[in-house]
Amino acid sequence: MTKKLLVLPGDGIGPEIVAEAVKVLDALRQAFGLAVELERGLIGGAAYDATGHPLPEATLDLARAADAVLLGAVGGPKWESLDISVRPEKGLLGIRAALELFANLRPAVLYPQLASASTLKAEVVSGLDIMIVRELTGGIYFGKPRGVRTLAGGERQGYNTLIYSESEIRRIGKVAFEIAMQRDRRVTSVDKANVLECTELWREVMQTLAADYPQVDLSHMYVDNAAMQLVRAPKQFDVVVTGNMFGDILSDAAAMLTGSIGMLPSASLDEQNKGMYEPIHGSAPDIAGQQVANPLATILSVAMLLRYSLGEQMLAQRIENAVQRVLELGLRTADIYSEGCQRVSTGQMGDAVVAALLEQSR
Ligand code: NAD
Repeated sequence: MTKKLLVLPGDGIGPEIVAEAVKVLDALRQAFGLAVELERGLIGGAAYDATGHPLPEATLDLARAADAVLLGAVGGPKWESLDISVRPEKGLLGIRAALELFANLRPAVLYPQLASASTLKAEVVSGLDIMIVRELTGGIYFGKPRGVRTLAGGERQGYNTLIYSESEIRRIGKVAFEIAMQRDRRVTSVDKANVLECTELWREVMQTLAADYPQVDLSHMYVDNAAMQLVRAPKQFDVVVTGNMFGDILSDAAAMLTGSIGMLPSASLDEQNKGMYEPIHGSAPDIAGQQVANPLATILSVAMLLRYSLGEQMLAQRIENAVQRVLELGLRTADIYSEGCQRVSTGQMGDAVVAALLEQSR
């Protein structure tokens, strides 16, 4: 059956990098019989300019009807002075909430060809392959009560609430265990159970869930130690599962181990594995429209889309192989360029990935 994909290019470099991902999808349709049809929608600043809102109802309707969503990036200086309720980033938070995308998957993979791009020693990071599973719709970012209040003496006090129910912990834990089953079968659950009762419950629920996955080795780590271990010996991790705020911080640290923001995809999934897929980077307004942005994070987001929402493991692998191939050939956009390599534009990088894909069909 033909699957529906919604494509949301967004702002800044979004349209340029998404165009390359669409080239890859077209090649998969033509050469490998992938049955997908693409719809396009507006989000972020582009949507605000056209409709007065960063997440128009029409986009939400398309997103609800689609099997998966591919997003470029949103935001830029043009919209920074707008009221917060209509800023581009509101569109992003709005679509995540409306689609109930509670599981954020952020792989941190370091291709051997790019080991020198990391700020850590090559031997510490070469071959790194971590999957961070972050809870995305709960925890302290959404907990109530929250706010800033004025105390009797006139001093102001800010407060937020860290809150997780057992069912929320169980469903994110399940995602992590299921992914671990397809990888090295190790899950590290990150918490602060020595200080926070909420994460004591987190640990207990993870421990109970582990009984359903006897093949997976579950370990627990305090978040401060996890931060330290990520920069000391990151290859010890396979799948890391954690709450919203710890995941926000640790996934950025893990991403930076790889040295290139332009290489890393992400997925946000609901309970039926419907998802939104996007590069981890932003709209890079400083390089927008120049054809220098790296499209590989967006192309690798298509691979995640195929794997997690469409069940097309083989095609996902083909994309990842094609990306490996172009790196082996020495092709580099400016952000990952090093001496001796061939510098290419956004479009040339997309074309090279398509060519490497088509090589696999021969
Ligand atoms: P950014 O990720 O856009 O850019 C940070 C740096 O990385 C810039 O120097 C940029 O040129 C570079 N970079 C990013 N992606 C690249 C790519 N594919 N190829 C080559 N270089 C790349 O972060 P920022 O500058 O903090 O934010 C810019 C805008 O993006 C802001 O409006 C911000 O709110 C928004 N933003 C959006 C998302 C999203 O849509 N998911 C995420 C983060 C930031």
